[in-house]
Amino acid sequence: MAVGIPTVAIMGRPNVGKSTLFNRVVGKRLAIVHEREGITRDRVVMEAEWAGNQFYLVDTGGYIPKGGDVIDKEVKKQAELALDEADVVVLLVDSVVGITAVDETIAKLAKRSKKPLILAANKADNDQLERDSNIFLQLGVGKVYPISALNGRAVGDLLDAVVAEFGEIGVLELDENVIRFSIVGMPNAGKSSLTNAILGRDQQIVTDIPGTTRDSINSRFKYYGHEFEMIDTAGLRKKARVHDSVEYYSTIRTQ
Ligand code: GDP
Ligand code: MG
Repeated sequence: MAVGIPTVAIMGRPNVGKSTLFNRVVGKRLAIVHEREGITRDRVVMEAEWAGNQFYLVDTGGYIPKGGDVIDKEVKKQAELALDEADVVVLLVDSVVGITAVDETIAKLAKRSKKPLILAANKADNDQLERDSNIFLQLGVGKVYPISALNGRAVGDLLDAVVAEFGEIGVLELDENVIRFSIVGMPNAGKSSLTNAILGRDQQIVTDIPGTTRDSINSRFKYYGHEFEMIDTAGLRKKARVHDSVEYYSTIRTQ
């Protein structure tokens, strides 16, 4: 049974278009989309609505099973956390690339969680790619939803399938008096560490690499009967020192 509004997590390896889909569904440019791999380091959570159904949509960091460095390990942990929290999982794959070993690993992990799982083949921008996407039946997840997050093609069909699962999982009502606050400060001031201390678990990426937290993160928790939503922001830097476009968008979002 889901508590409050159900949570839908978009999972998949880097670069399949998770952030593009997230932005399309929430109708805002919140998650950072980038042609470089592995740009979304953290989860982004946002309220969304489809056909009268409210839900929280989670854009997860990319899942990189064999990633050697500290960030890749953290990204993997994020995916596992997202699975843990999710009521419904959308597994996103890339219909142009086809099945990869990483897709198979994530599919196995997601199936093991026993959560309702919906497989969407993104970048099916035309009829031919849409037909080709049947190859993903081999993942053993079931029906394949070919979509184009970029041009919006068949995203409505996918969302119909997602909200159809809500009836199956059942939802407990929560009161709507959520107190929202944010933690703002310079990079490396300890914002993510403070967030983790408050939540009492390894909720998000904490490393001492400046700028690791690329996106703002919304975390919900209860304390003495009150519901809180904490927004941890990417640290602000002086404009002149913002070099690449990823950091540029992080800064804009924090502002
Ligand atoms: P993520 O790493 O899974 O979050 O992937 P992104 O959303 O950052 O997208 C990675 C790249 O794929 C970007 O260059 C997007 O513009 C591109 N992309 C995303 N969705 C589509 C789509 O439906 N069709 C095409 N052709 N490209 C897409
Ligand atoms: Mg992303």
